[in-house]
Amino acid sequence: MKLIKFFAAAVAVCSMSLAQQALAQGKGLIAISMPTKSSARWIADGSNMVKVFKEKGYGTDLQYAEDDIPNQLAQIENMITKGPKVLVIAAIDGTTLSDALQKAADKGIKVIAYDRLIKNSKNVDYYATFDNFQVGVLQAGYIEKALNLKAGKGPFNIELFGGSPDDNNAFFFYNGAMSVLDPYIKSGKLVVRSKQLGMDKVSTLRWDGAVAQARMDNLLSAYYSQAHVDAVLSPYDGLSIGIISSLKGVGYGTPKLPMPVVTGQDAEIPSVKSILAKEQTSTVFKDTRELAKVTANMVDAMLSGKQVPINDTKTYNNGVKIVPSYLLKPVSVDASNWKEALIATGYYTEAQVK
Ligand code: BGC
Repeated sequence: MKLIKFFAAAVAVCSMSLAQQALAQGKGLIAISMPTKSSARWIADGSNMVKVFKEKGYGTDLQYAEDDIPNQLAQIENMITKGPKVLVIAAIDGTTLSDALQKAADKGIKVIAYDRLIKNSKNVDYYATFDNFQVGVLQAGYIEKALNLKAGKGPFNIELFGGSPDDNNAFFFYNGAMSVLDPYIKSGKLVVRSKQLGMDKVSTLRWDGAVAQARMDNLLSAYYSQAHVDAVLSPYDGLSIGIISSLKGVGYGTPKLPMPVVTGQDAEIPSVKSILAKEQTSTVFKDTRELAKVTANMVDAMLSGKQVPINDTKTYNNGVKIVPSYLLKPVSVDASNWKEALIATGYYTEAQVK
């Protein structure tokens, strides 16, 4: 008897939570596929989206693929079987999803590429991201200013790092940065001693900090035993931390061997701490709360037949079509404006970064 009561209670609890779920998902299910939890920014993206979608009356299915391409594919295929209204995807490899997205399209599921463009598929409805070329411009502009290049100072030694070659953004970051740095390299005010230029030479597979650290170790031992590296273009905080470890390993960060200018991206906590410790020099803050909002507004508009908010219809050709996009503004952050950019906006508390 007790057992029956127990099961009856359990069933009641289950069906209640199903009913609650249905209520919470009143406007339908949104499936969110994120690349990895190894970087704090994607954790923030995921939880911000769950929050915003819930507030708007949607249910969510959030999954992380731990930077494993087959894993992300399997997760997306599994999501499709649950019949979501929309798939929001930040791809690990932007070129590998075409078949899965065809399955989604066949079921009438809409697709938003989140932060990273999905390539080679007509089944990408919209793209929500930041101005990725501008991210590179901000990173290189920081180096230009810190080294006083506009005033004709130099020559300085610089080494370049790129992001993951399977992420379309990595090319935008690199090209944006080179639009600023190239003239100084050509005029000899910036010298790349390794001569390693171009994404085919400087990219970092899967944005892996350990890979960047190992490459910096090699660069330092091969080209800088008798020379000082004055700047390192790093496109992402996780790489910057690896590069800085490598630099510290050979004695940089002392009055005799000052740290070079080291850029970054994402304003991740270890990098904000590093900026405050005068190791990393700058980062680029991209407010993931805003990206989550833009994405949710796109979803809402799309599903209710309203005009979808976009502000760019030229830049993002995915190989099959130009994907209508909304680009948010990135912000350069260093020791002079971190409080205003990161604390006053409520992105972090001061205690988190001290
Ligand atoms: C994102 C960056 C991030 C990088 C590594 C890129 O696609 O736009 O914000 O630093 O991936 O996760």
